[in-house]
Amino acid sequence: MVLSMDRWIGKVAVVTGASSGIGAAIAEALVEKGLKVAALARRKDRLEALAKKLSGKKGKLYPVKTDVSKEEDILNAFKWIKENLGPVHILVNNAGVGGHTTLADGDTEIWKNIINVNVLGLSIATREAIRDMKANNVDGHIIHINSIAGHQVIDFPGLNVYPASKFAVTALAETLRLELLNSKSKIKITNLSPGPVDTEIIPDSFRNTEQFKGYIQDKMIIEPENIADATIYALSTPPHVQIQELTVRAVIEPTFK
Ligand code: NAP
Repeated sequence: MVLSMDRWIGKVAVVTGASSGIGAAIAEALVEKGLKVAALARRKDRLEALAKKLSGKKGKLYPVKTDVSKEEDILNAFKWIKENLGPVHILVNNAGVGGHTTLADGDTEIWKNIINVNVLGLSIATREAIRDMKANNVDGHIIHINSIAGHQVIDFPGLNVYPASKFAVTALAETLRLELLNSKSKIKITNLSPGPVDTEIIPDSFRNTEQFKGYIQDKMIIEPENIADATIYALSTPPHVQIQELTVRAVIEPTFK
């Protein structure tokens, strides 16, 4: 199989949650490959700093301040992209949140935010991208950044509705694949599930411990760039080949128990 990013050069990719971690690494990799990247997140200062860092590269990063828990924000972002950048070819649904609480005695606002961002925001962005792709006859590619927690519940305290939200993403990816298949669309959908990655989603209370630093030292936690490389791989496949599911994790992982 010949892998190539050539057909995406100069095209528009939308990356949600591009202000840190995995999303920032994916946005950077796409700019390096020559794409116009609409980078969506709430922290515009972070997006602007990334745009500045990437100036002079083959492609370009365009910060678009967006709260994906708000439908209106997503609609406005896609409108801006359509008017200023052109037809959407790639959507990476990466924005995602956790939050420490329980199911037995939990905080409803934390639950709602997780569902709004991880499930509804992803679904609304996907719908808008597909509408745009179909209107412009673009055989594009949607990538959901899921999690290993979307396939098996992990025994880690305080995860609350997070695994359920990621199980929903697994179902959403497959339901979309079937919808696209049944409508004979050539738009691709990839469900990409990382294991533990060193990002800000891991609470500082754990990230700053000697135990966590030991995991990093022993390469038991992978880097955002590893997920960016996997994203580029899925995008580089020939138009008729679809990477349906991709799990990317450390060879030896911590046991959370
Ligand atoms: P991160 O560094 O905390 O990044 C999360 C991103 O989501 C940020 O850019 C954040 O931007 C954005 N975001 C959160 N709420 C948002 C909202 N309401 N509107 C728009 N953007 C929002 O964490 P990460 O690890 O890179 O997470 C990226 C994805 O990977 C998530 O879907 C996560 O579930 C998944 N994942 C992570 C791991 C891991 O171990 N790190 C493992 C498996 C899966 P703003 O705060 O600026 O809005």
